[in-house]
Amino acid sequence: MKLGRPLWAEVDLDAIAHNVRQVQRRIGPRSQVMGVVKANAYGHGAVAVARAALEAGATHLGVACVDEGAQLRKAGLKAPIVVLGYLPPWEATQAVQYSLTPTVTTQETALALARAAQEADTHVPVHVKVDTGMARFGLPPQEVEGFVAFLQTLSGLSLEGLYTHFATADEADKTYTRQQYRAFLGVAERLPQALVRHVANSATVADLSDMSLDMVRPGIALYGCYPSNQVTRSLDLRPALSLKSRVARLSTLSPGDTVSYGRTWTADRASRIALIPCGYADGLPRLLSNRGAVLIRGRRAPIAGRVCMDQFMVDVTHIPDVEQHDEAVLIGRQGELEISVEEVAEQAQTISYEILCALSARVPRYYLRDGRVVERSTLVEHQGDETPASGGATPE
Ligand SMILES: *Cc1c(COP(=O)(O)O)cnc(C)c1O
Repeated sequence: MKLGRPLWAEVDLDAIAHNVRQVQRRIGPRSQVMGVVKANAYGHGAVAVARAALEAGATHLGVACVDEGAQLRKAGLKAPIVVLGYLPPWEATQAVQYSLTPTVTTQETALALARAAQEADTHVPVHVKVDTGMARFGLPPQEVEGFVAFLQTLSGLSLEGLYTHFATADEADKTYTRQQYRAFLGVAERLPQALVRHVANSATVADLSDMSLDMVRPGIALYGCYPSNQVTRSLDLRPALSLKSRVARLSTLSPGDTVSYGRTWTADRASRIALIPCGYADGLPRLLSNRGAVLIRGRRAPIAGRVCMDQFMVDVTHIPDVEQHDEAVLIGRQGELEISVEEVAEQAQTISYEILCALSARVPRYYLRDGRVVERSTLVEHQGDETPASGGATPE
């Protein structure tokens, strides 16, 4: 893409749609899909991803907080949006204003929501979360029945769903997950009314699709990654995101010359070094210093020295004919080679989720359908920028 900043993410909306359909195929027609698009759709861009997921058959969207839900509503999305995180009572008015579906676990927030709904002459659908063993968020199982009875007394508020979250669904040993599942079903059975029950994250969809119940909540699978390497490769997932840049400068070093802050990389021979204009402020972990690599001209070029805030260097001595503005792939494919998010995550001692979520707003996102750019989102709109929707630019 020779347009704008020489660092960009390409998000393949066809891959998102494909992954949604893979999930639906796995869980069968009786369960619905809530596309989890919190954290800016794991860095991919919430609005474009949410639209693609809904078009591909997702019926609900999941976000972590009111602002994320409001962003989707302001973009015109109409599907139910479940707020999966804690909602403080003082955000009740906004939650109602944006027609969100909050999770309630306290009387105080439930009362605030009921009041806000009555004032707006509407009603607010809510879900109750049960903490079946994650000790993170939700009501203890023994408190659910009483809480649900309390919700029943509030006009303006209608209880719609009941859910829980698994702590170890992405591990090979599913004993604890089954235990959590049994605890959840026990709670659900004791309630007088039928609720939309949902427990399954991506790992559960892949390995325990018999727990799909009425709805599933995949996040990472929509983006084409497996939650961990212990999860069975039972879905045909396509990674949706590539991160690309271009060589900004080439320099020649003599043996003994050093690269970047702290001089942690020393040339042991006459070396060619390429500058890549991407840094930890863009979300590239500093832990990749002297560890990670990029793809240039179909070859791996290892990172030389420390990753800086806005740029880093790679050793291209072994790659002939490298030129300024050559494409450098940080995540994704080039020629025969691929650098996966999982590889980057491992080098940075973390999980794919964190690498994806960390991609900052400074990185332009280009959205692709049929291999063509249909939309882009950048930090600022420059006057005179082409509209790719009409131009249909093809990324090189
Ligand atoms: C983030 C989240 C999910 C999605 O998890 P993945 O592992 O990405 O599939 C599902 N449910 C809840 C409550 C979450 O917070």
